[in-house]
Amino acid sequence: TPTIGVLALQGDVREHVHALESVGATAVGVRRVSELDAVDALVIPGGESTTIDKLLRAFELFEPIQQRLRDGMPAYGSCAGMILLADRVIGGIEGQRTLGGVDVTVRRNAFGRQVDSFETDLAIEGVEGPLHAVFIRAPWVEEVGPAARVVGRVETGPAAGRIVAVRQGPLLVTSFHPEVTGDTRVHQSFVQIVRESL
Ligand code: GLN
Repeated sequence: TPTIGVLALQGDVREHVHALESVGATAVGVRRVSELDAVDALVIPGGESTTIDKLLRAFELFEPIQQRLRDGMPAYGSCAGMILLADRVIGGIEGQRTLGGVDVTVRRNAFGRQVDSFETDLAIEGVEGPLHAVFIRAPWVEEVGPAARVVGRVETGPAAGRIVAVRQGPLLVTSFHPEVTGDTRVHQSFVQIVRESL
């Protein structure tokens, strides 16, 4: 059974812990380096990327997580977590940094006022059947570099065509929040990625 950490500085940590446990992983909160050292993989939850960035530095986790990512640790980021795992961000606050790892440019709070928060069904590569996706002041992926692969787009409505899920090796990022829907298939596919990396 893989042990998967959920970065527990800010955001919807419990929801991810619950989703991971319900697909058979051992899930633990990560707030310190010793806890990071004990996990096989890391989930970075939705929340506020600027706050998580500041807390990563305050808790002295920024460089250690970056190092683990460089060493090939699998990671999944939803929403704010997607921003933190992106190599480049548009619309960040002054001085905002990302851990990076995924060769994409994300646009923060991208969907604008009218479609600020919305729900839609879409298809994700690696997940059987349509997935109900919940977006909350979400980023989208504006540019995808050669190392990354698009695995999901918005299919209908004003944001149709926008890239909202990307995979790069053992890294997965989604603009939306599967942890809030009770549908655990995205977590299941991430746990599969983790198992394959062990
Ligand atoms: N807008 C938030 C940010 O910039 C992300 C929102 C979310 O995670 N639901 O970090």
